[in-house]
Formats: sequence, structure tokens, C-alpha cells
Amino acid sequence: MTSPDTPGLAGLRPRLPSPVQEAADDRFERRGVRLLLKRDDLIHPELIGNKWRKLAPNLAAADGRTVVTFGGAWSNHLRATAAAGRLLGIPTVGVVRGDELAGRPLNPSLARCAADGMRLHFADRASYRRKSEAGVLAGLLRAADAEDAYVVPEGGSNAQAVRGCRELGAELRDRADVVAVACGTGGTLAGLAAGLAPGQRALGVPVLKGGFLAAGTEALQREAFGGRRGDWDMDDRFHFGGYARVPGELDAFAADFEQRHGLPVERLYVAKLLYGLVTLADEGAFPRGTTVAAVITGRPFPDPA
Ligand SMILES: *Cc1c(COP(=O)(O)O)cnc(C)c1O
Repeated sequence: MTSPDTPGLAGLRPRLPSPVQEAADDRFERRGVRLLLKRDDLIHPELIGNKWRKLAPNLAAADGRTVVTFGGAWSNHLRATAAAGRLLGIPTVGVVRGDELAGRPLNPSLARCAADGMRLHFADRASYRRKSEAGVLAGLLRAADAEDAYVVPEGGSNAQAVRGCRELGAELRDRADVVAVACGTGGTLAGLAAGLAPGQRALGVPVLKGGFLAAGTEALQREAFGGRRGDWDMDDRFHFGGYARVPGELDAFAADFEQRHGLPVERLYVAKLLYGLVTLADEGAFPRGTTVAAVITGRPFPDPA
């Protein structure tokens, strides 16, 4: 924060470090494995999970300027950015994928963004896809009337965000042998792995199909730290067909996990992570005596009543 007028992020009162809870689960216990839940979903009632860790350093860097960012119609990142804007008094602009959505009633996720004061701009899919090209980005910002804004990339993952997620790893030093997290852009994994102690391993579970994420995560580590950091890898088997695909089997698994542990299970990311960990435990992938920490990066939206 360089300006005395910039509202303080501390005013948001995040709960840090986030709590760590042990989960008694026979599917792990019979393999001699301990399961911990790293409750990043409890960091802040509105700025949940890894979105807090990624946004906080960017909001500081924005220094009171309008923040513009990008996402799909159900983006957790857009909602988190809009909530942060309202809480901190920072204007926000959301560039939403799909100009066919313009003029239609907002879905509940975008309605929440708008209620938090985010100005929405609907971009056609072709431009949206090419938004990392300088010329296309400039055009999008011009069309959104946000040319002087501070730009946070889609999913919120840039060098600042990745460095912010290092703290997640640091909070888990010496608490677990393996720390697992669901991956969209890989930014959270990139920072988490860098914050762990030597001997600890990070495991990413991509929720998108494609198998391209390891290269992206490595690129983010290079951008944030100058090179690859920490011991990490990915298991690409648990995307269930791709982003936002939640087949009945996964939904039933998540509902059962909620019953067992009283944990609201976010379906797009967290359910896939937990399903992956149960499968890996069943396969004997973790030696007896291993402690596995699952990072609970978010909560279902809308909140189940
Ligand atoms: C955004 C998000 C992720 C993915 O984070 P990346 O840093 O993009 O990999 C994981 N879990 C939840 C709940 C999210 O909202």
C-alpha cells in the first residue's frame, strides 16, 4: 500500500493461518494414512480460499485503481474479485466470456457480482480466447471502458498471486508429507509447492481436461520465482470430462463426503480433489504412515441453506 487513501486489506480480517482439521476416514485409515483438511474455505466468508491468497497481493498492487479481470459465467474468481471490490471500496470490472449473455437475465453467480458493484462487460468468445495478445487485450479494455485499470488475468494467476500462495505451503510446513490441491490455472499449486519444506511433496489434481497444466504451472513458477521450485507433480485422471463437468458419480461421492465429515464440498474443484485422494489411497499410492493434507480451496455456490 503506497497511498494513505487505499483501504487496508487487513480491514478484511482474514482468518490466517487457516485451520487444519483431522478427518477420520476409514478409506484412508485402513491404509495407515492420515487425512488432514486445510480449511482455506474458512479464510473469509466472502473472499474464500485460494482466491483470497491470490487476490490480496494484486489488490495491494492495484493501489486503489479500478481492477479489471476475466472469467466465465460461473467464475469463482469473478465473484471473489467483486466481493473484494465492495469490501475495499475498489471499483471492479468483469469481462465475461460470451457476448450472447448480454441483455439476458444474469445467472446467480453474475447477479452476485453485479450486486457487489462489479461492472460486467460481455466479450465475444473469439476475442476472449485471444485476450493474452496485447492488441486484443487493449481492444477488450477499451470496449469495457477500463483502459487505465489494473489487470488481473483470468483465474487470478500472475506472479503476485503465485507468491501470495507460498504462504499456504508455509502454513503446512512439517504438518504433512503430501499436500494436495485442485488445479484450474495451477497458480495455487505453483505457490504452495514453493512454500513447503524440503521433503514435503505437493500434488495437483487438474479439473480441466487436456494435460497441458504442468507446463503452465512451471511457467508461473518461473515468472514468480525465476525457476522451478519445490517437489510437485500432477495426476490428470480426475477431471471427470472437463471443467464444470459433474457427473452423478462425482456428485454422489461429494454428498457422501459431506455426510461423513460435515464439510460442504464445492463440486467443480474440491470434489475432484477428494475423489482423487480417495482413489489414490485405495490404490496404495501412499505408504503407511503418510499424512496427506487436502487443501479445501472453496465452498459450494450458492451456499446450501
Ligand atoms: C479457482 C479455484 C481453484 C483453482 O486455483 P488455480 O490457482 O487456478 O489452480 C481451486 N479450487 C477452487 C474452489 C477455486 O475456486
